[in-house]
Amino acid sequence: MEDCTFCKIIKGEIPSNKVYEDDEILAFKDINPLAPVHILVIPKKHISSTDDLEENDEKLVGKIFTVLKNLAKENGLKNGYRIVNNCGKDGGQEVKHLHFHLLGGRKLEIKV
Ligand code: 5GP
Ligand code: ZN
Repeated sequence: MEDCTFCKIIKGEIPSNKVYEDDEILAFKDINPLAPVHILVIPKKHISSTDDLEENDEKLVGKIFTVLKNLAKENGLKNGYRIVNNCGKDGGQEVKHLHFHLLGGRKLEIKV
């Protein structure tokens, strides 16, 4: 996707602070951290949002959650953490490339 910020990060056209990478998944620090640990985990394949997931993406999303869990452990989030996915306009999604926020390192106030 030409105009997608996260596709540009995957291609190295925009610099990022990477914390995990494999052939299908990339994780990097959020540029505007809302917590001491704020990492974004994304598929390398461009998927616009949760709403655009297809049945054959099920394994990929499962793998993303394993990466999220491992990153939480690596970052010492032993008291807990939050995983957030914003979808669409009402969900407040700004970057139209599927991503999961891993937030932790402080008590997160707003509870869904
Ligand atoms: P959304 O609101 O779409 O769920 O979250 C998008 C997130 O991407 C925001 O937390 C924002 O700070 C982050 N972000 C946007 N552009 C960049 C960028 O160029 N680099 C990094 N590392 N994070 C970005
Ligand atoms: Zn993209």
